[in-house]
Amino acid sequence: MINLSTSLRPAVLLSLALWGSCQAAELAWYKGNTHTHTFWSDGGEFPETVADTYKQKGYHFLALSDHNVVSQGERWITYAADKTATVDAAMQRTRARWGADHLQVREKEGKKQVRLWPLNEVRKLVEQPGRFIMIESEELTSGVAEGKQVHSNALNIDKRLPVKPNKENTVDQELAAHQKLVHDYRQGTDQPVFWCINHPNYKSSLIAKNLVGVTEANAVEIMNTSATCFNRGNGKDLIPVEQMWDEANTARLQQGLVPLYGVAADDTHKYGEDKPVLYSPGLAWVMVHSPALTAAAISTAMQQGDFYCSTGITLETVDFDQPAGTLTIAVAPEPGLHYTIDFVGSVKTADGIQIGQVLQSTEGIRAVYKLKGTELFVRAVVRCDAPPVIKYDDFSNVERKAWTQPVAWKK
Ligand SMILES: [Zn+2]
Ligand SMILES: [Zn+2]
Repeated sequence: MINLSTSLRPAVLLSLALWGSCQAAELAWYKGNTHTHTFWSDGGEFPETVADTYKQKGYHFLALSDHNVVSQGERWITYAADKTATVDAAMQRTRARWGADHLQVREKEGKKQVRLWPLNEVRKLVEQPGRFIMIESEELTSGVAEGKQVHSNALNIDKRLPVKPNKENTVDQELAAHQKLVHDYRQGTDQPVFWCINHPNYKSSLIAKNLVGVTEANAVEIMNTSATCFNRGNGKDLIPVEQMWDEANTARLQQGLVPLYGVAADDTHKYGEDKPVLYSPGLAWVMVHSPALTAAAISTAMQQGDFYCSTGITLETVDFDQPAGTLTIAVAPEPGLHYTIDFVGSVKTADGIQIGQVLQSTEGIRAVYKLKGTELFVRAVVRCDAPPVIKYDDFSNVERKAWTQPVAWKK
């Protein structure tokens, strides 16, 4: 039985820090974003300011996951030339935050350049034991045949996993290439690497079948709050990613594979906006139930599915009691909001398997689902009557929800 108790308590963290690893560690909830961009690729901010932005928002961990790069070594970017407005505005923000002398600038071959801090330097500035850590990551990024894109995030690595995108490759071939890189890295180190397939509907790239083939993946992004990810489908050819997730997991379980867990992430590219927009920091996150705030402990907990996703609803209890056959969900409510807890799963019937059905819907802040014995898996989705965080269109509104992971599949 996993009993995931309520929110993070500073006293628990302090105790963990003081006791060290010889004591039985208490579990605490850690809030994190697993998908973030900086000037190291196509994000619009310096990495130390990105990290600080999340830290100030109360996050406990952050993965900078730039495209096909880890932030190591020396890197300078040009300003006052290309991308002028973005870089100059970010320089102003970063100087305001860290001091007028913080950024190193130079002129090279007639171009004004500013130095990007590598992760090891950013860590010294923002990390605090038990309070905030960085998890080194990369977004493996490949353009493939038919204009599709295969992106996946490897969390908790310490060097670049060098994808060699091949525009002739099919999605399956490129996913296999990403998987080989992750597999080889995992074999070569003892680091737990959490590997997630990103935004399946971006550029109409992935379908459920593709997610069945990646046997070594831990997760898929079910909510990515950058634009054009069509998390909720497009009402035409793209199905909601949650439905794709359930279809893929149903097939995976029928084949004896473990299911994919779901991840919610910002995929942040835009910073310094007056109000939240798609691509902003702080819209979608994971809450990880872990014995410690270290990259290894967080990655391990996520590999085990000890986390839930949120776009603005906090859960007090996520308790799957296997012997009793119950999944209990309790919300940490906000005044004035009304909550509904849906239990969704795939079930065996006389006519075959019904995929991704709402098996029970309970109004209120606490609900218990009792297994019937016909479920391949069950998960919970919590919604509320708050207005959307971002109004965009019917398919891309960001609404306040929480999603727990599929359970009851271990037989
Ligand atoms: Zn991507
Ligand atoms: Zn991205």
